[in-house]
Amino acid sequence: MEALKVPVRDGSKCDLCGVCVGVCPADAITIELDGWDLDPGLCIGCGNCVAACPYRTLRFEDEGK
Ligand code: SF4
Ligand code: SF4
Repeated sequence: MEALKVPVRDGSKCDLCGVCVGVCPADAITIELDGWDLDPGLCIGCGNCVAACPYRTLRFEDEGK
């Protein structure tokens, strides 16, 4: 079984603003003291976070090459 596509993040551009956390319907993204994390087991690949990130740090790996 192939895994769902989950977004990848360019950590050099992310400022941990938290917008992606707020738009994720699956609560897959967390921001804690040690940084940003996306749980691929929770992500449903909806793309909300990719669309909402004000710094455009998130994308699906198979897009925008
Ligand atoms: S919305 Fe973008 S810049 Fe903000 S925490 Fe999420 S990935 Fe980082
Ligand atoms: S793609 Fe959707 S489910 Fe996955 S982390 Fe982004 S907002 Fe959450």
